[in-house]
Amino acid sequence: MKIGFIGLGNMGAPMAINLAKAGHEVLGFDVVSDAPDGVAQGESGAGVATEADMVITMLPNGDILRAVASEVIPAMKPGAVFLDCSTVDVESARAVATEAQEAGLGALDAPVSGGIGGAQAGTLTFMVGGSEDAFATAKPLFEIMGQKAVHCGPSGNGQAAKICNNMILGVTMIGTCEAFALADKLGLDRQAMFDVVSTSSGYSWTMNAYCPAPGIGPTSPADNDYQPGFAAELMLKDLRLSQQAAEAANADTPMGARAAELYETFVEQEDGEGRDFSAMLPRFERRKRS
Ligand code: NAD
Repeated sequence: MKIGFIGLGNMGAPMAINLAKAGHEVLGFDVVSDAPDGVAQGESGAGVATEADMVITMLPNGDILRAVASEVIPAMKPGAVFLDCSTVDVESARAVATEAQEAGLGALDAPVSGGIGGAQAGTLTFMVGGSEDAFATAKPLFEIMGQKAVHCGPSGNGQAAKICNNMILGVTMIGTCEAFALADKLGLDRQAMFDVVSTSSGYSWTMNAYCPAPGIGPTSPADNDYQPGFAAELMLKDLRLSQQAAEAANADTPMGARAAELYETFVEQEDGEGRDFSAMLPRFERRKRS
């Protein structure tokens, strides 16, 4: 396939490299970064789109996605697919998909989980919104860049799945961290706490697979001085998207709202920026009740 790849940052560059390694012809463009090895350098977003069977975007947010899409979509050939893998708001995902469909293109929103490690290893999970046809066209590429692609329904539903998942993740991480900090103050050994909770009804991915306490459970960013991993500011971005979506859909999400507030304080007023989102544990350790 001829692929145009726009947004060659932490996630996009390794994804583009994996597609090129698998034998696809990849032409890349980024406003800052040069194309990585194996990926040809394009001149502009529209430039990499003209000949492409598939244009993939991996961009910071919905406003940038909308701007790139309005430049790129008119340049694409009929029948090609516009595949956005960025994490953006549901509204932007649906607006861009409508624009693409009106231009005679296929459109998919396919945000990912798995982080930079998953992008490099080709083990991402894709949550996909859009038509069956477009999903079938993109499937071989999902299989190269990831290990799983779930078709979640029409356009925007990939983003909906991603922000609901990450709202659970943020809430659960906070719950796990505050419980560890309480256990410390009650004199309960962290290993004992882990041994009980990880095999009891309080178990979760944040406890069992990504334990925020250093030296406990499987290796996680806590064992590497809370270097990300998944940075607190990215969790804040996703929690804000969840609250924007909840507002638009008139959904009551008090725990998501509180998690967004806590990560906002952590990132903007405390030392959270640039640290893994599990560094909430040392934050709670330092704090008292009021
Ligand atoms: P990043 O900032 O490293 O990469 C984004 C790239 O887009 C940058 O290189 C930037 O120069 C480029 N860009 C910005 N405007 C552009 C434009 N108009 N035209 C072309 N390129 C442009 O971010 P990232 O970590 O690669 O994340 C990308 C997306 O993936 C985000 O939406 C993020 O939320 C999501 N995501 C990230 C992770 C992660 O762990 N980093 C995990 C899951 C999802």
